[in-house]
Amino acid sequence: MSCRDRDFRSAGKGFWAHISDEQWNDWRWQLRHRLTSLEEIAGLLTLTDSERRGILLASSRKLALAITPYFFTLLSPEDPDCPVRRQVIPRSEELLRAPYEMSDPCGEDGNMVAPGLVHRYPDRVLFLVTDRCASYCRYCTRSRIVSGVGEQHLTVDVDRALAYLWEHREVRDVLLSGGDPLLLSDGRLRELLGRLREIPHIEIVRIGTRVPIFLPQRLTRDLCELLRTFHPLWINIHANHAAELTAEVRDALGRLADAGIPLGNQSVLLRGVNDSAGAVRDLVHKLVRARVRPYYLYQCDLIEGTDHLRVPIEEGIQIMRALRGYTTGFAVPQYVVDGPGGGGKIPLNPEYIVGEEGGQLLLQNFLGKLYRYPSPRSSPGGAEGTPSGRAS
Ligand SMILES: *Cc1c(COP(=O)(O)O)cnc(C)c1O
Repeated sequence: MSCRDRDFRSAGKGFWAHISDEQWNDWRWQLRHRLTSLEEIAGLLTLTDSERRGILLASSRKLALAITPYFFTLLSPEDPDCPVRRQVIPRSEELLRAPYEMSDPCGEDGNMVAPGLVHRYPDRVLFLVTDRCASYCRYCTRSRIVSGVGEQHLTVDVDRALAYLWEHREVRDVLLSGGDPLLLSDGRLRELLGRLREIPHIEIVRIGTRVPIFLPQRLTRDLCELLRTFHPLWINIHANHAAELTAEVRDALGRLADAGIPLGNQSVLLRGVNDSAGAVRDLVHKLVRARVRPYYLYQCDLIEGTDHLRVPIEEGIQIMRALRGYTTGFAVPQYVVDGPGGGGKIPLNPEYIVGEEGGQLLLQNFLGKLYRYPSPRSSPGGAEGTPSGRAS
């Protein structure tokens, strides 16, 4: 084992030591044996009262409970504050509802142009292709439609979505999400990607998936061979804590990267999971070693029942300040908040322009030292090709 490999420990089989490697490494076996009930989980973890109530109530009416055996081996059996456990084991706080929380915090339903197809930005669309995931994140921004127990049902109509895309030549980027697109069979993925690739104006296709983290067994050589035939294809994964990047995950990501797929990561800033500069730094360092570039760090959306997981934006900004300059530039994600009600992604940055003095901008570097930059006088029309910034 090289020193680079030391942190990437195998998850092992834990409670499933009696299961053959063949079954354990079969993604369909993992899906069939997901933990979904209080009885199953209470037999394996010491649950708090809050977790018991959360499992009983929240998972039957808000967002289903499901955890793959593989991912379950990463949870601490004793410690309810384990950062991995907090992401997937419901708590009674999920039943609370803050006045500002919503069922569709990103306002996706208002931008739905065909069942499952969200068109908000000028040149790209979000295509929700399934409502199922390998495991369920308790803070899911699409709790209303994901997992089958929420208040709405996701209807996916691939024919209507594709008809819209054929017609809308301004769409050059299609982001497949859900649910988790990598839960579709190889055959369905091939058909869907193939039909998208027939549309000449679609330049890139992206997949947003947490399957590499919840179910790395799904990233078979066959799937990677299939995906590479649809380039340019980009994948964004979703990891929140360094402990999720096991040897199994690193190997699965390596197969995707070897298939030529550029990999990014989207994290959600979560209380008790990754709400410190140290936790985010450990995560991004491990991501770049696994050939994944940190893309977004999301402020937790105002989804119902997630107040106990939310971190104030000021704290998120402090975490960003502790990264920029202190680590590899491309290991620093962009911190964003989805504007509540449908505003789209809004970047949140520490302030580095701290003033102006006699035509010079006062800039602060990562160490807090001040520098003056003589700002060139802008031409009357402003920078060419950029919006004028006029209030509308
Ligand atoms: C996040 C999102 C996208 C993709 O946004 P990028 O900033 O390009 O990654 C597209 N459409 C919708 C509706 C989204 O929420």
